[in-house]
Amino acid sequence: MAHAANHDPYAMQDPRTQYPQPDFSKQPQPAPGLAKEMVPRPDHGETSYHGNGRLHGRKALVTGGDSGIGRAAAIAFAREGAEVVINYLPSEQKDADEVIALLRAEGSKIVGIPGDLQNEAFCNELVAKTVKELGGLDILANVAGRQQYSKSIDELDSESFQATFRTNVFALFWLTKAAMPHMPPGAAIVNTASIQAYQPSDILLDYAPTKAAIVAFTKALAKQAADKGIRVNAVAPGPVWTPLQPSGGQPQEKVVEFGKNVPLGRPGQPVECAPLYVLLASQEASFITGETYGVTGGNMLP
Ligand code: NAD
Ligand code: MG
Repeated sequence: MAHAANHDPYAMQDPRTQYPQPDFSKQPQPAPGLAKEMVPRPDHGETSYHGNGRLHGRKALVTGGDSGIGRAAAIAFAREGAEVVINYLPSEQKDADEVIALLRAEGSKIVGIPGDLQNEAFCNELVAKTVKELGGLDILANVAGRQQYSKSIDELDSESFQATFRTNVFALFWLTKAAMPHMPPGAAIVNTASIQAYQPSDILLDYAPTKAAIVAFTKALAKQAADKGIRVNAVAPGPVWTPLQPSGGQPQEKVVEFGKNVPLGRPGQPVECAPLYVLLASQEASFITGETYGVTGGNMLP
């Protein structure tokens, strides 16, 4: 397995060899999985993301902020000057502790609020606690998601189908509904779709439609929220090296070759998604709303 040629993401270099390429080792974990246990460890920008004050003073809630793309967004938001609350499941406290310790040591305000987003009452409580902790809410980054593959519709039970929709779609609705009354003009919502919304895999019969729903939700809400001066956009990643995949998101034989089929020949790293979350949350995106941005290594949105 090749290793990163250059961990400075600001240095010009060949994107194909910038980060690890397949083959990877099999590495099963129980869901939701820990970034801590992955080989190689994902790059969430811990040592590499530099901020420039683009979110100075903003108050942000990032779901799924313990690991993967959410951790990368949380680190980037904090380095850009935001105060951040991260949400995650209680079983992910070890991953959350890593990002909280890292950002606190740098002098950022970061608070962890664990809890299950499948529960509507908890979604309301999370928003209320965030507003209390930070004194407001300017950015809602909905990054949490559930992905469990199943080979055929016969194996996909109703419980699992509902859990995927509750986590990926219902929680998005509950959190957004609770958050919007607190958000001033200039605030931004950034959702997390997927290339699966457009090019669904046969083994993701529940997950792929949740991501299509997120694209449509983003567009419809953007039209409504424009009246309040709130922008709503989505990021749609292709394969990204996060614990979602080895913890049941893919069969292990697909984890081994994860990212091989994209034109750039490797999976993305969480840090490579962070600049889009920052842009869409920041005032630099003042004329951008209702859009879905791909970060796919070349597999392309339609
Ligand atoms: P990840 O496992 O690091 O993050 C997913 C997070 O979702 C977990 O850390 C967990 O905190 C949270 N979560 C799941 N169920 C929850 C629940 N019931 N309550 C509270 N939190 C819950 O993996 P990731 O790949 O960084 O995933 C982040 C987002 O990116 C997801 O929405 C995923 O669908 C999306 N995405 C990932 C990829 C990829 O290849 N990794 C590709 C496209 C889209
Ligand atoms: Mg996690």
